[in-house]
Amino acid sequence: MATSTASAGKLGASMASETDVGVLLAKTDRNAGVKGVTAFIVHPKKYPGWNAQPVPMLGLSKSMRTNVLFLDDFVVPVEDHLGEEGEGFKIVIRALQPGRVTIAGNALGVARACFEEAVRYANERELCGQAIGRFQMIQSDIAEMATAIENSRALVYKAAICMDNGLPSNRIAAMAKYHASQTAKMCADKAVHIFGGYGLAEEYPVSYYRAYSDMFFTGEGSANVQKIVIAEDALDYKIAECHHGRRGLREIRKDDVGAELAKAWRRGAGTARALAAQSACASASMNSRVRIIRTAS
Ligand SMILES: Cc1cc2nc3c(=O)[nH]c(=O)nc-3n(C[C@H](O)[C@H](O)[C@H](O)COP(=O)(O)OP(=O)(O)OC[C@H]3O[C@@H](n4cnc5c(N)ncnc54)[C@H](O)[C@@H]3O)c2cc1C
Repeated sequence: MATSTASAGKLGASMASETDVGVLLAKTDRNAGVKGVTAFIVHPKKYPGWNAQPVPMLGLSKSMRTNVLFLDDFVVPVEDHLGEEGEGFKIVIRALQPGRVTIAGNALGVARACFEEAVRYANERELCGQAIGRFQMIQSDIAEMATAIENSRALVYKAAICMDNGLPSNRIAAMAKYHASQTAKMCADKAVHIFGGYGLAEEYPVSYYRAYSDMFFTGEGSANVQKIVIAEDALDYKIAECHHGRRGLREIRKDDVGAELAKAWRRGAGTARALAAQSACASASMNSRVRIIRTAS
């Protein structure tokens, strides 16, 4: 068995102290840029040199155990490469796409939980003889939460449908993750404020939701990274779908994605069917608004 060894350090490796198997990206050709990165399937418990130390993170460690990982001549059998040599970057970019949609879905769930808690408490808590939900400034917060959640939901579902149907999804996944993480953070902050002093008490879940909502900005690429993907595509500096395997956006321009989506929706493909209901409603109302404007002009 041919082996190689890897030495490196990294903060942020979830479950690395517990896992039996992982994926490691290693530079196999230092002079080839991103084409010099190869992915390997690694076995932390089978070979020496893998040292993962859990990092306590405020409010997160119960739900998300992450580690600082040191590789010290960690043994990697050469034949355990994933894909071909030099394909590691392409593989990770494709893996990030579903990862981003998953994080966006998590963020949407946390946003909803915050909203539901806030609505319940606003109806329950009475001040000056009335529920605080009757105060217009509390209503303003509730309205902003509800609207942002609907927007995020439409993006998350659209990204999931695109992915389900093998359509280019990198740009929409970046948008979904960016928007849903902002929504989770905003809803968590507002929920904590609506709870007043109780919002900071560990006894109330909103205090955890707020700590948890910060994580959505970081995992699978920071908020800035999502904005770079979106803006560089818009400015034509770098096509967001350039790593898409089957059909890149050079073949399907992004304006055509809606049409492709409609075709897929009519086919009723896979799990997208259930997910599609939300975004189909959103795009239907958008389309009818476009038609009204055209008629008026
Ligand atoms: C709980 C948790 C679990 C994690 N689990 C994993 C895991 O399992 N596997 C894994 O691989 N990683 C994991 N990570 C790491 C995570 O993916 C990284 O923390 C994240 O990608 C950000 O990288 P960084 O921390 O090195 O920040 P940096 O890249 O140093 O970024 C610092 C700041 O600079 C900004 N920035 C960076 N580049 C640019 C730019 N070009 N333009 C503008 N702004 C920029 C960023 O937005 C950020 O605000 C985890 C992190 C956390 C917190």
